[in-house]
Amino acid sequence: ENIIEEKVDIQKLKSLDKKYYLHPTTSIHQQQENGPTVIFKEGQGIYLTDVYDDVYIDGLSSLWNVNIGHGRQEMVDAVSTQMGRLAYSSSFQGFSHDPVICLSQKIATMTPGDLNVSFFTSGGSESNETAFKLIRNYWKLKGEAERTKIIGLNRGYHGITMGATSATGIAQFQNMSTANAPDFLHAKAFQLDCELGDKSNPNYRESIRGIIEKEGADTIAAVILEPVQGAGGINIPPDGYLQAVRQLCDEYGILMIADEVITGFGRTGEMFGVNNWGVVPDVLTVAKGITSGYIQLGAVIIRETIRDELAELSSDIFFHGFTYSGHPTACAAALKNIEIVENENLVVNAKNMEAEILKGFKYLESKHPTVSKIRAIGLMGAFELFADRANEVPFEPSQMVAQKVVQECMKRKLIVRPVIFEGSNIITIAPPLITNKEQIGTIIEILSEALTVVEKELIR
Ligand code: PLP
Repeated sequence: ENIIEEKVDIQKLKSLDKKYYLHPTTSIHQQQENGPTVIFKEGQGIYLTDVYDDVYIDGLSSLWNVNIGHGRQEMVDAVSTQMGRLAYSSSFQGFSHDPVICLSQKIATMTPGDLNVSFFTSGGSESNETAFKLIRNYWKLKGEAERTKIIGLNRGYHGITMGATSATGIAQFQNMSTANAPDFLHAKAFQLDCELGDKSNPNYRESIRGIIEKEGADTIAAVILEPVQGAGGINIPPDGYLQAVRQLCDEYGILMIADEVITGFGRTGEMFGVNNWGVVPDVLTVAKGITSGYIQLGAVIIRETIRDELAELSSDIFFHGFTYSGHPTACAAALKNIEIVENENLVVNAKNMEAEILKGFKYLESKHPTVSKIRAIGLMGAFELFADRANEVPFEPSQMVAQKVVQECMKRKLIVRPVIFEGSNIITIAPPLITNKEQIGTIIEILSEALTVVEKELIR
């Protein structure tokens, strides 16, 4: 009965996948034509093994989340022990248990400022969704119910639930359904001068500040942004930008949400992305790296003062909670994961590997005429491909250049992610936080081989 247990019939697996499985963020048409891209069976360290025993480098930490790498026995043991003791219990009605208490306390010791109070979810979308509702509830209780609007950034990604999609500034996700949630606005990203108040800048009206002034500050509940944009193509803000947004929010009494679903727990070479710029948001959302994906978990971390105000303002029930809020086994996984991140100095490793990635990307830039706009922070990096890089002329979308590079990487057993955005062809990497110098070298070599093949084809 169990197809995995018996000698695996790969063709059968492929046909069952086609017949019964609807993949997330995948072309349904292509899956129906070609079946699954790869069927994996095992993971160890930065490597994934497929059913043909081919070994791939997991160059994106799967979905920017398997930070401690695959196959960690300590995680298996921690999860199994907790499952044996208390796999699940509810956190509604004030019920609690030691893993969730210990994790809440642990997070408070790690986060900047007084971001000391955690609400738990099962992922990033749920965390952002929770942040929006919690903040709107906060304003309502404070007698400012008209503060409903949330401002996100173009190219920001916040997830796929209704509010999270609406906050997302990427057209493909926005266009998935015919109607998104109201009261979500999008600002042009990284307009530092405008956020500092330069009204002469032609982009002023599209900046966060411009939008706040147009809409009226007393209608704005919060600004949400990723300290470093991930899915939008690894876009690093200019120095001073996060500070400017913090200042702007303070000026207008608007709450600032940092979406650290990718950047949280070490990815950028700091424990949290905001630490790179010394900024403390009012609400910080996390998921992914909190458990390295071993069990699904997310959190919304709020300032203690906000919790105190909420407690002061109402004794009603906080009518928001997921069945799996504070899942004991997921919390045990997070505690062990954080212990590994700390004991193995993975945040420092991420910081050190930044230079290796940049060195590698510089080599790619010197060797490949299409490569430009290289960037990295910690263990996340990207470069872009241009038909004429000196004049930033993009390739035709029909040429599928980024997709072809990624396919050539796949042939050479490296998994990386293409980001196609308004004509740009971006290649992103974010290998696990355990990745070493030599492994970065291999990633760069494979990228170079893939680029050579694609560039040859383009010239022909
Ligand atoms: N926020 C950011 C910055 C993300 O990168 C993601 C996922 O990629 C999400 C939110 C959504 O998280 P999830 O897929 O766990 O719902």
